[in-house]
Amino acid sequence: MDTVQALDFTIHQADEAAHLFGVTPGQVAESLRGVNHTDQQGRGAHAANGALGALIDLAMTHRRDCGRPDCPTCTAIRHALAANLASLRTMRLEAIERSAESTGVVSAWSVGVAQPSASETAD
Ligand SMILES: [Zn+2]
Repeated sequence: MDTVQALDFTIHQADEAAHLFGVTPGQVAESLRGVNHTDQQGRGAHAANGALGALIDLAMTHRRDCGRPDCPTCTAIRHALAANLASLRTMRLEAIERSAESTGVVSAWSVGVAQPSASETAD
């Protein structure tokens, strides 16, 4: 699956969920106006911000209500949080890289800012 196919698949799923939750075309257009003037990174950050905010709200609410050891919703939340964290860290690194390129500062990759913290690697 290439990037466009992956995006089409995700957009299709999001369209279905949006329809079920009563999202209107006007709400989508309003959100689009908020990112029209930004670059690709700005649009990505806007989407990630909205998705992650909702994900965190849902995760925290579900965590209060769920005590099941093998819960598919908890599993889905874990996967979504991991994917969002990876995307956010990548976006942050890219922003640092662009800033470093424009100022001639050492590469963010070379100083290890992409590494997960010790608490994230300990199991
Ligand atoms: Zn659960």
